[in-house]
Formats: sequence, structure tokens, C-alpha cells
Amino acid sequence: MLLSVIVPCYNEQDVLRATHERLTSVLSALSLDYELLFVNDGSRDDTQLILTELQLIDPHVRVLLLSRNFGHQIAVTAGLEEASGDAIVIIDADLQDPPEVIPQMVQLWRDGNDVVYGMRTDRKGESTFKLWTAKIFYRLINRLSETKMPFDTGDFRLLDRRVVDAVNSMPERARFLRGMVSWTGFRQVSLPYARAPRHAGTTKYPLTKMFRFAMDGIISFSLVPLKLAIWTGFLAICIAVAGIVAAIIDRMLNRDLPRGWASLFVAVLFMGGVQLVSLGIIGEYLGRIYTEVKGRPLYVVQERLGFPARQTGSKRKEVSSVV
Ligand code: UDP
Ligand code: MG
Repeated sequence: MLLSVIVPCYNEQDVLRATHERLTSVLSALSLDYELLFVNDGSRDDTQLILTELQLIDPHVRVLLLSRNFGHQIAVTAGLEEASGDAIVIIDADLQDPPEVIPQMVQLWRDGNDVVYGMRTDRKGESTFKLWTAKIFYRLINRLSETKMPFDTGDFRLLDRRVVDAVNSMPERARFLRGMVSWTGFRQVSLPYARAPRHAGTTKYPLTKMFRFAMDGIISFSLVPLKLAIWTGFLAICIAVAGIVAAIIDRMLNRDLPRGWASLFVAVLFMGGVQLVSLGIIGEYLGRIYTEVKGRPLYVVQERLGFPARQTGSKRKEVSSVV
């Protein structure tokens, strides 16, 4: 039995050694073989240096260096495709998700569950704003989407090989992994845990990225925004019909006062707004169709360290090693 632990890292030089140490002390106590798969998501600090060093001293460590920053969800996707474990754990590098929970996840997996997702009961060191927006987001997405997603969960979870194979077979570019895992089905259980504050360093998810992420989640899992445009259209038509009727009655009663400028103005502005919003919504979906159709790979690997066999480096290096 092999357990793979995927750790996406973006500029995490301050925390990596501590992460490696805590993960190692937890995992070595398990009666399982394990691999620690660090995905370096194009960090610009000394992350790669530290990972290379860790890989030299610890044979459990594998390092996947992406050629630039592709974003958290893509980094995890790369990890899922490279992991060879029978069970795979996804954990953040910043020790917000305590590695000490992993043994309980493994136990639940051994009891026959395919997905064990961590459910945050307590989130220390995070702003009220983040907590509130997260809450609103999960309520919203569950209203809008047919795939039901558990509240208060992140990507800290254990997945059985079958689930990982299913997720790997989903080719979409806008990757909202927690939704994709929910979509696969199988036996999913939650495991409550308290989320700690970041061990060191700063968050790599500024507000703009959070917003993008939320949009990805909603648009990938729901067509309701598109339908919303239709409903608003119908509503506008109803109002317009009422307006027409009122105007005709007004005319027939012969109260011909030079009125109507304000109502005309309001109607034009309102309709303009509705049309622009609808176009924008269509544009969001169309843009995504466009990027999907291009069919580019999701990420580019620059370097692989510590992986068994399949060592693919640059052609240049391969040629020089043959000569
Ligand atoms: N991360 C990444 N690529 C990115 C942004 C973040 O691989 O472009 C990693 C980061 O190193 C960390 C995890 O994703 O391991 C979660 O990021 P962070 O802790 O900054 O997010 P927060 O917990 O503040 O939401
Ligand atoms: Mg974090």
C-alpha cells in the first residue's frame, strides 16, 4: 500500500522545512509506504533550492517543478497525475491543515470510504471577511449547482485511487477540484478538524484570485447564470407590456400631457443594463469554451526529481547524456 501526499508550493521557503518535518513524523508512524510529492508551482524564492535539498536527504520526497506559476488548482492537478499511491492526500504547504489528521483519514479510508474530506470546524487566523465570503459562496454554489458540495471544506482530503483516476480523466481547464471530487460520487465522508493559522509566510490567495476561483466554481458547475439572463429578459418584457398598456390607456383617456421623458429614459437605461449583463454572462461561458477548445495542456513540467523510472528532462540534456 502506497500513500501519496501532494503538497502544492508557491513561494513557501519559510515553511517548507517545518512542513517536511511534521509530515515525515506523522507518515513514518503509519504502517504504510509513502511518497511526499511537492509540486513547485513556479516559485520565485528559494523553494526549489530547499526542495532539491530535501529530496537529496529523503528518498520519500519527489519534486515536480512546473515551468511557471499555474495556480493552486492546476498544481494539485499536476500532483494528482504524477502520484502513484493507492490513496492520495492533498495538503497545503503552510501547515494550516494539520498533518496529524492524516492517520484518521487513512483509517476512514481503510474502513472503506473513497473520499475523506477535512471539514473545518474552526479557522484561526483568518479574517472575518474571508469566513463570511466563504460561507456565502458555499451556500450560493449549492443553490446554483446540481452537484452538491459540502460546506466548510477545502482541498485537504484523502482520495482513493479510483477517485483520482476519475478526476484525472476530466479534461476541463477551469479546475474546481472540490466540485470535481464531489461530482465523481463514490463513498464520501467528512472528518472535522480545526484549521490552524498559517505557520509562516503570507497568503498566496489575494482577493482577486479568490474571486476568480469562486467564478470558476460557479460557472463550471452551473448553468443558472445563463438562465438568469432569460428570466431577466422575461421580466423586462412583462414590465414593457404593462408600460405599453398603460401608455395606450393614457392616450385613450386623452390626457395628452408632454410627459414620458423620464419613463423612457429609465426604460432605455434599464434595458441597456440588462443586455450588457446578459452579454457579459454569455461572454464568460464563451471565453471558457474558447480556452477549452484550444486544448492546450494544463501545465508544463520543467523538472522531475526523485520519481522512479520515467525521468524526462530536456532533449538537450538527454542528447548530451547519450553522447
Ligand atoms: N499555491 C500554489 N499556487 C498558487 C497559489 C497558492 O501552489 O498560485 C499553494 C500555496 O503554496 C499553499 C496552497 O496553495 O500551499 C494554499 O495557498 P494559501 O495558503 O496561500 O491560501 P489560503 O490558505 O490563504 O487560502
Ligand atoms: Mg493557507
